[in-house]
Amino acid sequence: MDLSVSEKERYDRQMRISGWGEEGQRKLKQSKVVVMGMGGLGCPASIYLAAAGVGNLILVDKESSELSNLNRQILHWQKDLGRPKVLSAKEKIEELNSEINVEAIKTEINEKNIEELASGATVILDAMDNFKVRFLINRVCVEKVIPFVHAGIYGFQGQMTTIVPGKGPCLRCIFPQSPPEAERFPVAGVTPGVLGVLQAMEVIKLIVGLGEPLIGKILFFDGEDMTFITCEVPRNPDCTICKKLV
Ligand SMILES: [Zn+2]
Repeated sequence: MDLSVSEKERYDRQMRISGWGEEGQRKLKQSKVVVMGMGGLGCPASIYLAAAGVGNLILVDKESSELSNLNRQILHWQKDLGRPKVLSAKEKIEELNSEINVEAIKTEINEKNIEELASGATVILDAMDNFKVRFLINRVCVEKVIPFVHAGIYGFQGQMTTIVPGKGPCLRCIFPQSPPEAERFPVAGVTPGVLGVLQAMEVIKLIVGLGEPLIGKILFFDGEDMTFITCEVPRNPDCTICKKLV
């Protein structure tokens, strides 16, 4: 799949990165990234993935925009209040880059549809706000051996890791039990902005094949004192989800 003249110009600056080039750009063009959740993490992640030329971007979310979302969910604007988030996000993304395919799926992610939603994905981006769905994503990604990039946020803090089944721990190895969760937790809008963009960077690295992804490592970000800390997280050899991949 060759790049068009306009694609060569649009992606010129990133293709100048050593090891990226036209070949890396073609990999992005052929890729399919499923962004699960179109909130504070999913919005910044998906606009950067679109800008970078991910050829097939699938946006999944069940909700419609509310006024209290607008401090952080930057693809939903005042004119979009009450509209499905996947549609307002798709519109903005298509205005930025009409050379990619964007699919909007308004649905709740559950046991019944997770396999179909994940089907054929090059990478999945976990931009959810609850561990019930995250563990579903983890299970199906381990089963189908699909890499996924996880992030979570609270207040000024965030965490992220990259799961490549068979190459490091899965999300269950890292979190044997669901961490405590609140329905309406505090969030500084910039926090998911930082984490969502870092997730997009991980996805791009995985597809192009550059750099060192956060496999077996968890990154903690604290916006209050502006620190990034990375800790190693081992695989659990008795993990009920990924044990069979050893
Ligand atoms: Zn595991």
